[in-house]
Amino acid sequence: MVRGFDRHQERQSSIQILGKTLSKNARFQCEWCDGKDELRPYDTQRKKEPTLDTLLFLCEDCRNIASGGKFEVNSLRNRLNGLWSERNIVKETLAVILVESKALWAIEAVENTYFEGDFQP
Ligand SMILES: [Zn+2]
Repeated sequence: MVRGFDRHQERQSSIQILGKTLSKNARFQCEWCDGKDELRPYDTQRKKEPTLDTLLFLCEDCRNIASGGKFEVNSLRNRLNGLWSERNIVKETLAVILVESKALWAIEAVENTYFEGDFQP
């Protein structure tokens, strides 16, 4: 138990350290919606060692969406800018949620986005 706890603490502190670079690169704005409320790093791959490529910098609402919380599909319209991100993790995680929303405009936006490698939302 103690070891698991230590590992958790270690992980939290490395996320915190990475979060400083992350927030600076994101210009202290949410990477999905440009919002500024309660910005924090969001861990997309909890089983892997956190890196800048597995973390998002998101506001409270976007973290809720990212973690599978309930939201209005239309609120995704304010988040389409995230598809223009230079960071693959930002576009890819957002694209998955847009496609899952099944809204035609959301799917179209994803279809018009260029993804590197063999990513398929
Ligand atoms: Zn946001």
